[in-house]
Amino acid sequence: FTGVVAMDGPSGTGKSTVARRLAGQLGARYLDTGAMYRAATLAVLRAGIDPQDTLAVVETVERADIAISTDPRSPGVTLDGADVSGPIRSSEVTAAVSAVSAVPAVRVRLVDLQRELIGDGGVVVEGRDIGSVVWPGARPKIYLTASAETRARRRAGELGAASDLATVAADIARRDRLDSSRAASPLARAEDAVEIDTTYLDIDQVVQRLVDITMN
Ligand code: C5P
Repeated sequence: FTGVVAMDGPSGTGKSTVARRLAGQLGARYLDTGAMYRAATLAVLRAGIDPQDTLAVVETVERADIAISTDPRSPGVTLDGADVSGPIRSSEVTAAVSAVSAVPAVRVRLVDLQRELIGDGGVVVEGRDIGSVVWPGARPKIYLTASAETRARRRAGELGAASDLATVAADIARRDRLDSSRAASPLARAEDAVEIDTTYLDIDQVVQRLVDITMN
């Protein structure tokens, strides 16, 4: 597989699991762009900077050395040489990531990096703006959705026993609102994307459908 698959959509749709498995089946690489925005956010929090302080955020993210693996068997991200795959999933990072990723200069830096990583293709790229901004030539462009309730349940399952469904649902709703109302690259479905509602599908069914779409 030498193409580029764009996989966009909000969180809790099964996007990460599906994108990674699809890459494995296609023998392609896998790029999780959300992990890059999360690593940038971790850099901001570790520097003790207020995520709303745009100038300081830009300076910090520009200095941060963010590297990401594109191997679907061992995805991982490093910040200044240290593995931060665990810390980027913390609730502190999740709470601040929408603010950091709304800063235009942060997006420019990370989109450049993403385009470099996509390079000659052979990759499944997961995010919010892949089909619309990062790689408009991607084929196919997939947009995954699921009902709000299903998304909250899936996220809560990922987060484990300590998480409360109502809090997770409120958190997802807040992130959706921020991600889709920002001025720079708001979360929006590319016009030519194939939308798949995963509410009543399991992971295997979604992956199979995507393999079919990609191969045809
Ligand atoms: O996919 P994930 O939930 O890890 O993404 C975390 C956050 O990163 C999103 O809520 C969004 O604010 C931002 N993001 C983005 N553009 C992308 C991927 C993620 O703005 N391509």
